[in-house]
Amino acid sequence: MSPSTETATPDALPHKKGPRQTEQRKAVFAALMARADHPSAVEVFLRVKTRVPSISLATVYNCLETLAASGQVRMVNHEREPSRYCANLSEHAHLFCSHCGSVTDLPVHTPMPPDQIWHLPEGVTISQQEVSFRGTCAKCGQQSHAHTQPAHLSEPLPHGSSGPAASAAPYFVS
Ligand SMILES: [Zn+2]
Ligand SMILES: [Zn+2]
Repeated sequence: MSPSTETATPDALPHKKGPRQTEQRKAVFAALMARADHPSAVEVFLRVKTRVPSISLATVYNCLETLAASGQVRMVNHEREPSRYCANLSEHAHLFCSHCGSVTDLPVHTPMPPDQIWHLPEGVTISQQEVSFRGTCAKCGQQSHAHTQPAHLSEPLPHGSSGPAASAAPYFVS
């Protein structure tokens, strides 16, 4: 046979959609699992791009759509902000921090069917429950406590003095 066939390298041709998309979807899902901070599609894109430089934002959108449609991730929408994504499938509510904009998962004490929590008018059927709260996340709550300390009372203290009675400031002021 002719040796010229050796020059043909069909393997070098880029693959059409298929296994490559599955790989990209896996990378998108892994990025969501890595940090439970409810990133937007653009944030997911920036994280995945460090591992899969060839991935496009459109592909990330497609992957997220597929993952959401198959119930592997939840879409989290708040007001007019871009959708965020959550890979925590256990029952939880979302806390939207009005200070820093973060989204925190709030697990339930005891999972209960919606009709035991809410008053549902007759004939209403719930297909999906999304509970969200607006408030202050733990991080911002601690920071605001530090900020609300009257300045004249807090003389520059030696750093790191972690005695049990660091300050007698009440934590719950009404
Ligand atoms: Zn969540
Ligand atoms: Zn916050």
